Amino acid sequence: MSTFLIHTLIPGGREGPTLCYDNQTSLLTDSLTGQPVVKSFASEPANNHVFATSKDTPAKKNSPRVLKISLGLSCNYECEYCSQRFVPRAAETNPAEVQSFIDGLDEWVTLPPERIEFWGGEPLVYIKTLRPLAQLLRAKYPRAHFSVITNGSLLNADVNEWLDDMEFSVGISHDGPGQHVRGPDPLDDPEKRAAIMDLYQRLAPKGRVSFNAMLNRSNISRAAIQQFFTELTGDPEVMIAEGAFVDAYDPGGLALSLPSSEAHAFRRSSFQEIRQGKADRVSGVRDRVASFINSIRLQRLASSLAQKCGMDSTEAIAVDLRGNVLTCQNVSAQSTAPNGESHRIGHVSSLASVELRTATHWSKRDECPKCPVLHICKGACMFLEGPLWEASCNNAYSDALPIFASGIEFLTGLVPVFIEGDIPEARKDVFGLTHTNAKGEEVTRKPFPVPVVAA
Ligand code: SF4
Ligand code: SF4
Repeated sequence: MSTFLIHTLIPGGREGPTLCYDNQTSLLTDSLTGQPVVKSFASEPANNHVFATSKDTPAKKNSPRVLKISLGLSCNYECEYCSQRFVPRAAETNPAEVQSFIDGLDEWVTLPPERIEFWGGEPLVYIKTLRPLAQLLRAKYPRAHFSVITNGSLLNADVNEWLDDMEFSVGISHDGPGQHVRGPDPLDDPEKRAAIMDLYQRLAPKGRVSFNAMLNRSNISRAAIQQFFTELTGDPEVMIAEGAFVDAYDPGGLALSLPSSEAHAFRRSSFQEIRQGKADRVSGVRDRVASFINSIRLQRLASSLAQKCGMDSTEAIAVDLRGNVLTCQNVSAQSTAPNGESHRIGHVSSLASVELRTATHWSKRDECPKCPVLHICKGACMFLEGPLWEASCNNAYSDALPIFASGIEFLTGLVPVFIEGDIPEARKDVFGLTHTNAKGEEVTRKPFPVPVVAA
């Protein structure tokens, strides 16, 4: 079943009409009349079907539009919920491997990539490898978009100038007011802070720098994160990337996951922040609200939805400098996925033999096809399984629900408060505003404490 009855309130507290939402067709209708409540702009190109990868039906890889190069997983910091923290390391790469990597590219990269991402660990730990690698790739693919995500602690004037000259976009991983929960804070060190601000001032006018922040149970306010970076930079247009709830890759991520007892409070505050415009610099909110609204306007079919990180795509490929093809940039050729398959899914010398057996597309999970926030979440991490996947799924559900509610309010003026459908009981009450009587029968709604504001 993929249709849900969405009980709504009109901001201010009155009960609104019940809507019907189909997560497979993205149709939003009035449950009484069956009529669509949003004008459709449906078009065919929005509904190309994606290939659903799994261990038994693995996706293949072609010449990449998105090329992710893993330099290695070493990092000078040890952050609490890093997805790479317990990943077995491959032998370190070194500058001597760069030339053979470049020399071999033409055999498997037949069209220039649109985007090349350079990944660590901390990529700037590998600066002696990164410099020649990026320079040779820039000469070979002058139009490719280059990007790197760094913790910012190894920046200096020289590195900053080079990143600028090479036309990198740079994401600086920092959780704002919650950085102390994540790990060390480079902003506490005057020299590191000055280097981060120098890079910001260089790249911000070119739209090529962001702060990349994640939410966790001890850092739940996007408004506080946005305020932190606005004050740090003095820039009301500061770009904050990511901004979603952490996945639980390991015990650290599990400990920072959202307990069910805190889910409703998080969803309420998150929804208020979004609709009051206090998280409007956070791309993980802005882009996902817009994308969800468009999914309804365009009647996007669920069958056209790729996995959230895009690494199930045949045109996105993660490799190390030895040519090993990996599930994604967060694993190594030495590591094994929870389903027992090696994260080394092949080698570039035989691209046709590469098979993504480590991952499960959302459509092959039990829960995702029946989930109302599917179009926002797109299935959490595709290789997690068991309790870590369940915790990540719970985080993702609470993360996506306020976005779901904001999108529906934007389109209809109605705020979803209760979802009826084939989902676990604990997932039905959106904001914790309903309760049952002593016999557990009757559902009543408390007044909805939301002032009328433009969404
Ligand atoms: S919230 Fe969970 S069930 Fe829903 S789409 Fe995301 S991972 Fe799947
Ligand atoms: S599979 Fe995707 S979501 Fe999971 S760790 Fe890799 S990039 Fe991240």
